[in-house]
Amino acid sequence: MTQRTIRLVTTPSPPREHRPGMANRPLIAPGHWADFDPFLVLMEDWMREPGGFPDHPHRGIETVTLVLDGELHHADNRGNSGVLGTDDVQWMTAGKGIIHAELPNQDRSSHMLQLWLNLPSTSKMVESDYQDLLAAQRVAVDDDHARILLISGELEGISAPTRTRTPVQYLDVQVEAGGRAVVPVPAAHNGFVLVLDGAVRVGPENATGAAGQVLWLDFPSIGATGMSSLVLHGATPARALVVSGTPLREPVVAYGPFVMNTEAEIIQAYQDFHSGKFGGPTPAALALAASE
Ligand code: MN
Repeated sequence: MTQRTIRLVTTPSPPREHRPGMANRPLIAPGHWADFDPFLVLMEDWMREPGGFPDHPHRGIETVTLVLDGELHHADNRGNSGVLGTDDVQWMTAGKGIIHAELPNQDRSSHMLQLWLNLPSTSKMVESDYQDLLAAQRVAVDDDHARILLISGELEGISAPTRTRTPVQYLDVQVEAGGRAVVPVPAAHNGFVLVLDGAVRVGPENATGAAGQVLWLDFPSIGATGMSSLVLHGATPARALVVSGTPLREPVVAYGPFVMNTEAEIIQAYQDFHSGKFGGPTPAALALAASE
Protein backbone atom coordinates (compact mmCIF):
# COMPACT_ATOMS: atom_id res chain seq x y z
CA MET A 1 0.00 0.00 0.00
CA THR A 2 1.31 3.45 -0.89
CA GLN A 3 2.60 5.37 2.09
CA ARG A 4 1.59 9.00 2.34
CA THR A 5 4.32 11.60 2.65
CA ILE A 6 4.30 15.04 4.30
CA ARG A 7 4.49 18.11 2.05
CA LEU A 8 4.08 20.93 4.56
CA VAL A 9 4.32 21.48 8.33
CA THR A 10 2.77 24.60 9.84
CA THR A 11 3.41 26.00 13.32
CA PRO A 12 0.68 28.09 14.95
CA SER A 13 1.10 31.49 16.55
CA PRO A 14 0.44 31.71 20.32
CA PRO A 15 -3.22 32.16 21.30
CA ARG A 16 -4.44 35.75 21.35
CA GLU A 17 -7.18 37.14 23.58
CA HIS A 18 -9.39 39.14 21.23
CA ARG A 19 -12.13 40.09 23.67
CA PRO A 20 -12.92 39.33 27.33
CA GLY A 21 -13.32 35.58 27.82
CA MET A 22 -12.26 34.76 24.24
CA ALA A 23 -8.89 33.62 22.95
CA ASN A 24 -8.05 31.80 19.75
CA ARG A 25 -5.45 30.91 17.18
CA PRO A 26 -5.74 29.59 13.64
CA LEU A 27 -4.25 26.12 13.12
CA ILE A 28 -5.34 26.09 9.47
CA ALA A 29 -5.34 29.68 8.21
CA PRO A 30 -7.94 30.78 5.65
CA GLY A 31 -7.08 31.60 2.05
CA HIS A 32 -5.20 28.48 0.97
CA TRP A 33 -8.34 27.04 -0.58
CA ALA A 34 -6.77 24.85 -3.27
CA ASP A 35 -3.94 23.51 -1.08
CA PHE A 36 -6.18 22.55 1.82
CA ASP A 37 -9.31 21.57 -0.19
CA PRO A 38 -11.93 20.50 1.09
CA PHE A 39 -10.85 22.06 4.43
CA LEU A 40 -11.21 25.82 4.82
CA VAL A 41 -10.18 26.86 8.32
CA LEU A 42 -9.33 25.24 11.66
CA MET A 43 -9.55 27.42 14.75
CA GLU A 44 -8.55 26.60 18.30
CA ASP A 45 -10.78 28.54 20.68
CA TRP A 46 -10.80 29.11 24.42
CA MET A 47 -13.85 30.76 25.91
CA ARG A 48 -15.45 31.50 29.24
CA GLU A 49 -18.07 33.99 30.35
CA PRO A 50 -18.63 36.66 29.12
CA GLY A 51 -17.18 35.18 25.92
CA GLY A 52 -18.80 32.97 23.32
CA PHE A 53 -20.27 33.28 19.87
CA PRO A 54 -23.87 34.53 20.19
CA ASP A 55 -26.36 34.18 17.31
CA HIS A 56 -24.71 34.24 13.88
CA PRO A 57 -25.48 32.70 10.48
CA HIS A 58 -23.67 30.25 8.20
CA ARG A 59 -24.25 29.09 4.62
CA GLY A 60 -22.34 26.76 2.30
CA ILE A 61 -20.19 24.91 4.85
CA GLU A 62 -20.16 22.32 7.61
CA THR A 63 -18.64 23.14 10.99
CA VAL A 64 -17.10 20.24 12.91
CA THR A 65 -16.45 21.12 16.55
CA LEU A 66 -14.41 18.96 18.94
CA VAL A 67 -14.44 19.90 22.62
CA LEU A 68 -10.92 19.31 23.98
CA ASP A 69 -11.75 20.34 27.51
CA GLY A 70 -14.67 21.87 29.39
CA GLU A 71 -18.22 22.29 28.13
CA LEU A 72 -19.78 23.94 25.09
CA HIS A 73 -23.42 25.05 25.07
CA HIS A 74 -24.84 25.24 21.58
CA ALA A 75 -28.23 26.09 20.16
CA ASP A 76 -29.58 26.75 16.68
CA ASN A 77 -32.77 28.18 15.23
CA ARG A 78 -33.92 24.74 13.99
CA GLY A 79 -34.67 23.64 17.55
CA ASN A 80 -31.42 21.83 18.28
CA SER A 81 -29.54 22.57 21.48
CA GLY A 82 -27.38 20.81 24.03
CA VAL A 83 -24.17 20.68 25.97
CA LEU A 84 -21.06 18.98 24.64
CA GLY A 85 -18.39 17.71 27.03
CA THR A 86 -14.77 16.70 26.61
CA ASP A 87 -14.10 14.74 23.39
CA ASP A 88 -17.68 15.17 22.12
CA VAL A 89 -18.05 16.36 18.52
CA GLN A 90 -20.79 18.38 16.89
CA TRP A 91 -21.14 18.07 13.12
CA MET A 92 -23.29 20.90 11.80
CA THR A 93 -24.27 21.20 8.16
CA ALA A 94 -25.19 24.82 7.53
CA GLY A 95 -26.37 24.12 3.98
CA LYS A 96 -28.67 26.86 2.70
CA GLY A 97 -28.70 28.69 6.00
CA ILE A 98 -28.80 28.40 9.75
CA ILE A 99 -28.41 30.71 12.75
CA HIS A 100 -26.67 29.30 15.77
CA ALA A 101 -24.93 30.21 19.02
CA GLU A 102 -21.82 28.64 20.58
CA LEU A 103 -21.35 29.62 24.22
CA PRO A 104 -19.56 28.47 27.37
CA ASN A 105 -21.90 26.43 29.55
CA GLN A 106 -22.70 28.65 32.55
CA ASP A 107 -19.50 29.09 34.57
CA ARG A 108 -17.56 26.36 32.74
CA SER A 109 -14.79 27.19 30.31
CA SER A 110 -14.54 25.64 26.87
CA HIS A 111 -11.44 24.70 24.91
CA MET A 112 -12.37 23.52 21.45
CA LEU A 113 -11.35 22.98 17.85
CA GLN A 114 -13.61 24.05 15.01
CA LEU A 115 -12.98 22.84 11.49
CA TRP A 116 -14.76 24.48 8.56
CA LEU A 117 -15.41 21.89 5.92
CA ASN A 118 -16.44 23.07 2.46
CA LEU A 119 -19.62 21.76 0.86
CA PRO A 120 -19.65 20.80 -2.82
CA SER A 121 -21.55 23.23 -5.08
CA THR A 122 -24.33 20.64 -5.43
CA SER A 123 -24.83 20.56 -1.63
CA LYS A 124 -24.37 24.21 -0.64
CA MET A 125 -28.13 24.81 -0.57
CA VAL A 126 -29.23 21.58 1.14
CA GLU A 127 -31.38 21.70 4.27
CA SER A 128 -29.32 22.22 7.39
CA ASP A 129 -28.40 19.17 9.43
CA TYR A 130 -27.02 18.56 12.86
CA GLN A 131 -25.32 15.63 14.56
CA ASP A 132 -23.95 15.20 18.07
CA LEU A 133 -21.20 12.57 18.03
CA LEU A 134 -20.66 11.69 21.65
CA ALA A 135 -17.32 10.37 22.90
CA ALA A 136 -19.07 7.59 24.81
CA GLN A 137 -20.48 6.14 21.57
CA ARG A 138 -17.24 6.18 19.60
CA VAL A 139 -15.81 3.06 17.96
CA ALA A 140 -12.18 2.36 18.94
CA VAL A 141 -9.71 0.12 17.14
CA ASP A 142 -6.83 -0.98 19.35
CA ASP A 143 -3.44 -2.03 18.13
CA ASP A 144 -0.42 -3.06 20.19
CA HIS A 145 0.74 0.40 21.14
CA ALA A 146 -1.88 2.58 19.51
CA ARG A 147 -5.58 3.30 19.58
CA ILE A 148 -7.64 4.86 16.79
CA LEU A 149 -11.05 6.38 17.49
CA LEU A 150 -13.44 6.69 14.54
CA ILE A 151 -15.35 9.99 14.30
CA SER A 152 -16.29 9.85 10.63
CA GLY A 153 -15.52 7.66 7.65
CA GLU A 154 -14.46 4.04 7.76
CA LEU A 155 -11.89 2.07 9.67
CA GLU A 156 -11.13 -1.65 9.28
CA GLY A 157 -14.53 -2.30 7.72
CA ILE A 158 -16.44 -0.34 10.35
CA SER A 159 -18.40 2.68 9.11
CA ALA A 160 -19.05 5.58 11.47
CA PRO A 161 -22.74 6.58 11.54
CA THR A 162 -21.70 10.18 10.79
CA ARG A 163 -23.47 11.63 7.74
CA THR A 164 -21.12 13.63 5.50
CA ARG A 165 -21.87 15.41 2.20
CA THR A 166 -18.49 14.58 0.74
CA PRO A 167 -16.29 11.71 1.94
CA VAL A 168 -14.43 12.79 5.08
CA GLN A 169 -12.45 10.55 7.41
CA TYR A 170 -11.88 12.01 10.88
CA LEU A 171 -9.76 9.92 13.26
CA ASP A 172 -8.41 10.51 16.75
CA VAL A 173 -5.11 8.61 17.02
CA GLN A 174 -3.34 7.87 20.29
CA VAL A 175 0.08 6.26 20.27
CA GLU A 176 2.48 5.29 23.03
CA ALA A 177 6.10 6.44 23.17
CA GLY A 178 7.95 4.14 20.77
CA GLY A 179 4.65 2.84 19.40
CA ARG A 180 3.49 2.97 15.81
CA ALA A 181 0.05 3.55 14.30
CA VAL A 182 -0.62 2.62 10.68
CA VAL A 183 -3.56 4.79 9.67
CA PRO A 184 -5.48 3.89 6.52
CA VAL A 185 -6.30 6.95 4.39
CA PRO A 186 -8.21 6.81 1.07
CA ALA A 187 -5.68 7.52 -1.71
CA ALA A 188 -8.05 10.14 -3.21
CA HIS A 189 -8.10 12.17 0.02
CA ASN A 190 -6.26 15.37 0.85
CA GLY A 191 -5.60 15.57 4.57
CA PHE A 192 -3.64 16.62 7.58
CA VAL A 193 -2.33 15.50 10.95
CA LEU A 194 -2.93 17.88 13.85
CA VAL A 195 -0.79 16.98 16.87
CA LEU A 196 -2.83 17.55 20.04
CA ASP A 197 -0.43 16.23 22.68
CA GLY A 198 3.17 15.03 22.67
CA ALA A 199 5.27 14.60 19.56
CA VAL A 200 5.09 12.29 16.54
CA ARG A 201 7.21 11.32 13.56
CA VAL A 202 5.17 10.87 10.42
CA GLY A 203 5.64 9.14 7.09
CA PRO A 204 8.68 7.56 5.43
CA GLU A 205 10.73 10.76 5.86
CA ASN A 206 9.99 10.91 9.61
CA ALA A 207 8.61 14.45 9.53
CA THR A 208 8.39 15.58 13.14
CA GLY A 209 5.32 17.21 14.61
CA ALA A 210 4.77 18.64 18.09
CA ALA A 211 1.57 19.81 19.79
CA GLY A 212 -0.20 22.46 17.73
CA GLN A 213 1.61 21.70 14.49
CA VAL A 214 -0.27 20.64 11.36
CA LEU A 215 1.37 18.23 8.91
CA TRP A 216 -0.18 18.13 5.42
CA LEU A 217 -0.19 14.93 3.39
CA ASP A 218 0.93 14.90 -0.24
CA PHE A 219 -1.93 16.20 -2.42
CA PRO A 220 -3.78 13.36 -4.19
CA SER A 221 -3.69 13.09 -7.96
CA ILE A 222 -6.95 13.17 -9.90
CA GLY A 223 -8.28 9.65 -10.34
CA ALA A 224 -6.45 8.15 -7.34
CA THR A 225 -8.32 5.10 -6.02
CA GLY A 226 -8.01 2.56 -3.24
CA MET A 227 -6.32 3.02 0.09
CA SER A 228 -3.01 4.50 1.15
CA SER A 229 -1.48 4.46 4.59
CA LEU A 230 -0.01 7.03 6.93
CA VAL A 231 2.47 5.85 9.54
CA LEU A 232 2.71 7.71 12.86
CA HIS A 233 5.43 6.97 15.41
CA GLY A 234 5.09 8.18 18.97
CA ALA A 235 8.24 10.17 19.81
CA THR A 236 6.53 10.60 23.21
CA PRO A 237 3.07 9.43 24.27
CA ALA A 238 1.08 11.36 21.67
CA ARG A 239 -2.40 12.18 20.45
CA ALA A 240 -3.14 13.47 16.96
CA LEU A 241 -6.14 13.99 14.72
CA VAL A 242 -5.85 12.56 11.22
CA VAL A 243 -8.47 14.22 9.04
CA SER A 244 -8.83 13.72 5.30
CA GLY A 245 -11.39 14.29 2.60
CA THR A 246 -11.94 14.24 -1.14
CA PRO A 247 -10.92 17.61 -2.65
CA LEU A 248 -13.84 19.42 -4.31
CA ARG A 249 -11.64 21.20 -6.91
CA GLU A 250 -14.17 24.05 -7.15
CA PRO A 251 -13.82 27.84 -6.90
CA VAL A 252 -14.13 29.21 -3.35
CA VAL A 253 -15.50 32.66 -2.50
CA ALA A 254 -15.58 33.17 1.28
CA TYR A 255 -16.94 36.16 3.11
CA GLY A 256 -17.51 36.15 6.88
CA PRO A 257 -19.68 33.16 7.79
CA PHE A 258 -20.62 32.31 4.18
CA VAL A 259 -18.57 30.19 1.76
CA MET A 260 -19.88 29.88 -1.79
CA ASN A 261 -18.55 29.40 -5.33
CA THR A 262 -19.18 32.90 -6.74
CA GLU A 263 -19.41 36.52 -5.54
CA ALA A 264 -23.02 36.68 -6.74
CA GLU A 265 -23.85 33.78 -4.37
CA ILE A 266 -22.23 35.68 -1.46
CA ILE A 267 -24.33 38.77 -2.21
CA GLN A 268 -27.39 36.53 -2.39
CA ALA A 269 -26.46 34.99 1.00
CA TYR A 270 -26.38 38.45 2.65
CA GLN A 271 -29.69 39.41 0.98
CA ASP A 272 -31.33 36.17 2.14
CA PHE A 273 -29.97 36.56 5.67
CA HIS A 274 -31.10 40.20 5.99
CA SER A 275 -34.52 39.43 4.53
CA GLY A 276 -35.12 36.74 7.17
CA LYS A 277 -34.78 33.65 4.97
CA PHE A 278 -32.43 32.02 7.50
CA GLY A 279 -35.23 32.16 10.10
CA GLY A 280 -35.38 33.84 13.48
CA PRO A 281 -33.10 33.95 16.50
CA THR A 282 -32.17 30.91 18.57
CA PRO A 283 -34.19 30.14 21.75
CA ALA A 284 -31.04 31.07 23.74
CA ALA A 285 -31.05 34.55 22.23
CA LEU A 286 -34.78 34.94 22.89
CA ALA A 287 -34.32 33.90 26.54
CA LEU A 288 -31.44 36.35 26.89
CA ALA A 289 -33.52 39.16 25.38
CA ALA A 290 -36.41 38.34 27.72
CA SER A 291 -34.13 38.47 30.79
CA GLU A 292 -32.70 41.90 29.94
MN1 MN B 1 -20.67 29.27 14.03
